[in-house]
Amino acid sequence: MLQLDRKRSQGYLYQQIYQQIKQAILERQYKPHDRLPSKRELATTLRISLNSVNAAYQQLVAEGYLYTRERLGFFVEELDSFYVKPKNQDSDIPPHLLEVQKTEGLKKYFSHMSADIHMFPLEKWLSCEEQALKKKKKLLEEYIDPQGVYSVRQTIARFLSQSRGVRCYPEQIVLGSGTQLLTRQLTKLLPKDTIYGLEEPGYQRMYQLLKSEDRSITSLEIDWKGIRIDALQASMANVLFTTPSHQFPTGAIMPISRRIQLLNWANSAPDRYIVEDDYDSEYKYDADSIPSLQGMDGASRVIYMGSFSKSLLPGLRMSYMVLPIPLLEMYRRSLHFLMSSCSTITQLTLQAFIETGEYQKHIKKTTKLYRIRRAMLIDKLLDKFGDCISVEGEKSGLHFLVSFDIDRTEEQIKRQAEEKGLLLYGISRFYNQSVPPRKPTLILGFANMRTTDMDEAVGLLWEAVFN
Ligand SMILES: *Cc1c(COP(=O)(O)O)cnc(C)c1O
Repeated sequence: MLQLDRKRSQGYLYQQIYQQIKQAILERQYKPHDRLPSKRELATTLRISLNSVNAAYQQLVAEGYLYTRERLGFFVEELDSFYVKPKNQDSDIPPHLLEVQKTEGLKKYFSHMSADIHMFPLEKWLSCEEQALKKKKKLLEEYIDPQGVYSVRQTIARFLSQSRGVRCYPEQIVLGSGTQLLTRQLTKLLPKDTIYGLEEPGYQRMYQLLKSEDRSITSLEIDWKGIRIDALQASMANVLFTTPSHQFPTGAIMPISRRIQLLNWANSAPDRYIVEDDYDSEYKYDADSIPSLQGMDGASRVIYMGSFSKSLLPGLRMSYMVLPIPLLEMYRRSLHFLMSSCSTITQLTLQAFIETGEYQKHIKKTTKLYRIRRAMLIDKLLDKFGDCISVEGEKSGLHFLVSFDIDRTEEQIKRQAEEKGLLLYGISRFYNQSVPPRKPTLILGFANMRTTDMDEAVGLLWEAVFN
């Protein structure tokens, strides 16, 4: 009953025999303990070599479909019957699970989550990679420290101290492939009944992560200095997530007065911590960047989180957190078994990239460029929209907010834009627990906005708002 395709388009003959006998056993055409034809018999009937039959039988024995009895031959194992999907009946994946992106084909000029690949110094990066791998290839043959390669953490600690005023030992740094993953680790170190205070509007992916971890969350109202201190004090929060360098998404820079208030809040009860998400602090246009909250914190209450997703590429998946000593203590006790989620190759390359000064050069170069893109974009927006647009949060980072004084909803504008092929992000998606403002407000990123595309982008935006 075997049917062989002698042109072998369905695989070698032995594979075909193996497949067909296996299927027959699973479909119970053979019963348990049935005897199979001897190898010689089968080879003769099928007019194929004994070797092919032998290979098929050996594989079936190895997988446990057949057993042998000395001098008696091959027999079918006793297998419990179970549901076998009939051959040729593929169950289709439901259409809503197919990964044809809804936003595919839409222009992402205004994306606040993208970098400009044209700006990435690929040659330099590759030469750092080559250099690093040649010098440190021994490290690749083993699993590295769960917190990341120690010398890479030394480099990052030094760099953080110079550029962000972060004070830490390499021992306190945990590298991870994304701030969400790191945050998940962090939540494991904090008591289960911790109440997390999140900025509203704020980074929705952090909210979703904490939600999925079944943590209690309270949303805290912000003003133009960041989290409102009265809201914070009235809340039950004991761990605060904040983006002081460039509030996400409003773009507010937290002034020193509010920073001090937050640190005092943290230091006034034993279980309080602040998570400082410093995601795009490298970019500051009118003054030097403001040093981190972590650097001001004398009481070990700040967990600093950083990422190379915005300054280099999201695709690198290189992020890190700096744990205060008490949390490091707990990390070493309870989480040090988790293996590093960051590729050793990427870690070593990044290290070389920083040590050779290429990273700093890259930041300088991109700051210059983003300053131009930002200024041009704002000019063009004001030109085109005149009085009915207002721009906020543009002093630092890689996006700003615009709101429109018109009789249209954000949803309508977004939908119109999508019909015209433009992807827009409205502020509503960043309101996790409360009602977004009525005035249509958009987050406009400019890191990936090339000057040659700007007229088209602003034109499409105009059409989306007014047509
Ligand atoms: C981009 C971004 C990050 C960094 O995310 P990674 O997971 O490190 O790529 C963190 N916070 C905010 C608000 C961001 O926009």
